[in-house]
Amino acid sequence: MSPPLPDRVDPWRLAEGGKVLEGLVALAALPRLAPALAAGGDASYRLEFGREDGRAVVTGRVRAVLALRCQRCLGPLRLDVDSAFALAVVGSLEEVAALPERYEPAIAEDGWIRPRDLVEDELLLAVPAVPLHEQGACRAPATESGPGQEAAPADGPFAVLASLRRNGGAHEN
Ligand SMILES: [Zn+2]
Repeated sequence: MSPPLPDRVDPWRLAEGGKVLEGLVALAALPRLAPALAAGGDASYRLEFGREDGRAVVTGRVRAVLALRCQRCLGPLRLDVDSAFALAVVGSLEEVAALPERYEPAIAEDGWIRPRDLVEDELLLAVPAVPLHEQGACRAPATESGPGQEAAPADGPFAVLASLRRNGGAHEN
């Protein structure tokens, strides 16, 4: 048993004390992620609060095995997530532009952040927009309308995902 993840925390206070939150959170308790899952389980998390250049920062790691559903064959699709990240707490969107590149923003609303949201955000980033087994590894179930429906989502969803990934922005010099 781990202590439950607090609903909300004051990130600056935790940063002051160098506080670490770690433990397990039930995937079913993550409302944006849970509908995409075919089975439950837990995510393990570690959120280490600290200070850097006067900012409150969070160094985190989230691990989980997600039971997704392949959108081609509708069978189970296992996704191992082991994601490390670094966040800097900001009080407003205007502060985001000033962050060093190695940090993603964690926006504090009225001075609070919700650790569960940080964990869920990280897991959501790892989930493809359209989960699929590898090309050729499975087939769409036969339907009365017959073959020919399978052509569409070859690498499209992944291309879309790639463009959404936070480090995937194209910067030209
Ligand atoms: Zn499949």
